[in-house]
Amino acid sequence: MKALVKTKLGPDCMRYMDMPEPVPGADDIKVKIFACGICGTDIHLMHDEYPSKPPIITGHEFSGVVSEAGANVTDFKPGDRIVTLTAVDTCEECEWCRQGLRMLCPARKSVGSGCNGGFAEYVVIPAKHAFHLPDGIAMETAALCEPLACVCRSVCERASVKAGDFVLVAGAGVMAQLTAQVAMANGGVVIMTGLKNDAERFAMAKRLGVFETLYVDEGEPLARVMELTGGMGAQLAFECSGAAASAKFCLEALMKTGQYIQVAIPGKPIPFDMDMALYKEITISNSYASERTSWLIALRLLEKKLINIAPLASSILPLTEWEEGFRRTIVKEGFKVLLMPHPEDLKESE
Ligand SMILES: [Zn+2]
Ligand SMILES: [Zn+2]
Repeated sequence: MKALVKTKLGPDCMRYMDMPEPVPGADDIKVKIFACGICGTDIHLMHDEYPSKPPIITGHEFSGVVSEAGANVTDFKPGDRIVTLTAVDTCEECEWCRQGLRMLCPARKSVGSGCNGGFAEYVVIPAKHAFHLPDGIAMETAALCEPLACVCRSVCERASVKAGDFVLVAGAGVMAQLTAQVAMANGGVVIMTGLKNDAERFAMAKRLGVFETLYVDEGEPLARVMELTGGMGAQLAFECSGAAASAKFCLEALMKTGQYIQVAIPGKPIPFDMDMALYKEITISNSYASERTSWLIALRLLEKKLINIAPLASSILPLTEWEEGFRRTIVKEGFKVLLMPHPEDLKESE
């Protein structure tokens, strides 16, 4: 089968190439990939800024259809539409595994970085980590379940948004838009911040229901936040860009006793005014990808149509055009780029 492989560490490491088709074990399912989203992590992975074990088939944000189920698998059958959590290979013995915090397992191997992923025609995963895709969710949208689950971890499990809270979402990309959607589902009043070149992204945010968008590179953005929040500042700030200036703005725009939540991975140490956080009694939180509980929230929000994320799947390309997809992701063109190893499936799904 064809797959997009990180062949080695170092530059010029990505190849679209033949790989052996995976064979499911007794407890596994073999999944025919429908679409797999390109994530910022894939770009980091390509540049060795995120750990991986090459040679490895990349991609972790996918939707697919079961093509084969192992002998012991009872809850999935060929034809079932699925998505899967990413921490598919953990020790199951350590305290973190026992507590259901699989991302924290020291032996964790995640799909697309530690074990083979979704930029391929097929992938094999343990059936116990898959989720049935509820009816009414398009396969394209389903490929956004993984980033959505990560955001559900941040917003619903690692922070506490109450109805009427002012929620600052710093950034206007996919993660920020998803964060805004989930914060709004919790009753938050979202103020999204971005830069002047985020005009199109802001238009999408407005279309998807955010209360206010705010350029932080013109005018007096902090004064504007205070004006919007009755002089108090925001109850919560989700930092979704990874930029130091954005972290600083979040801290300034928060009300005393507010919550600061780091969603994006800065990728390097960034300055953070701990004195200001202390003087304002800011609670600092963050989240690392997603756990099973986060997926259950994500799928329920989608199934019950409490959020609108379909427009964020902004381009769909055949897997053969992965370089163009990576380019669009790097230059932040549109929102999520999906790659399809079987592009003919798109017509059938319409
Ligand atoms: Zn991702
Ligand atoms: Zn473990």
